[in-house]
Amino acid sequence: MNIILLGPPGAGKGTQASRLVAGRNMVQLSTGDMLRAAVKAGSPVGVKAKAVMAAGELVSDAIVSALIGERLDQGDTAAGVIFDGYPRTAAQADALDILLAERGSALDYVVELEVDEAALIERIVGRFTCAHCGEGYHDVFKLPTVAGVCDVCGATEFKRRPDDNAETVSTRMAEYRAKTAPILPIYEARGLVRRVNGMADIDEVSAAIAGILGS
Ligand code: ADP
Ligand code: AMP
Repeated sequence: MNIILLGPPGAGKGTQASRLVAGRNMVQLSTGDMLRAAVKAGSPVGVKAKAVMAAGELVSDAIVSALIGERLDQGDTAAGVIFDGYPRTAAQADALDILLAERGSALDYVVELEVDEAALIERIVGRFTCAHCGEGYHDVFKLPTVAGVCDVCGATEFKRRPDDNAETVSTRMAEYRAKTAPILPIYEARGLVRRVNGMADIDEVSAAIAGILGS
């Protein structure tokens, strides 16, 4: 089972992807996470991507599709992948079809998280993660059960993304509208798109996606 979670920044792709892989033999592939790791490591890809990400623009198609191709060769993705934040352009969508076909695989569903754009700024500026395990939280919508302590690993350090500010978010939204939203009709024509109300509670969104996956 290979699925794409599609939606604008803050729609809940990362939140849902990490819940969906838990208990299923699936792997979450987030190009945003891969690029942030590359920036942190100071690798050649990270050096190229750093300023582009800070500006809220899209990293080149060649770079992100190469990252996905390498990741698909690591041997743990055969049972299924949840693509989170990839593809983001028509060229990336084409590349993904080829990468999967080369490995004898294909897409099953494209789950569109339908959200009210006006609510996304609040979601994004309130986002933070555990610095140790990466579990995602929100200042209003998902605080740790015990203040200042990660529910998953017990760590007490948290971090915020440098691109989660109101100014960069408007560029990221514009990039989504101009380059990512146009790939939906391509998948729709292939009968792959399933829509979910991304404004519902986190648990309700997970249940709706689980219903689509049939498990
Ligand atoms: P994306 O990966 O699509 O950019 P995230 O999954 O990181 O989005 O979600 C953005 C923020 O909104 C996070 O802080 C997350 O905790 C919160 N969030 C995610 N889904 C919901 C939801 N259904 N309702 C309220 N807040 C949510
Ligand atoms: P995300 O974590 O998905 O919000 O992505 C953070 C940033 O990484 C984006 O604003 C882009 O600069 C870059 N990025 C992540 N995924 C892609 C992608 N598939 N194509 C191009 N740029 C990407």
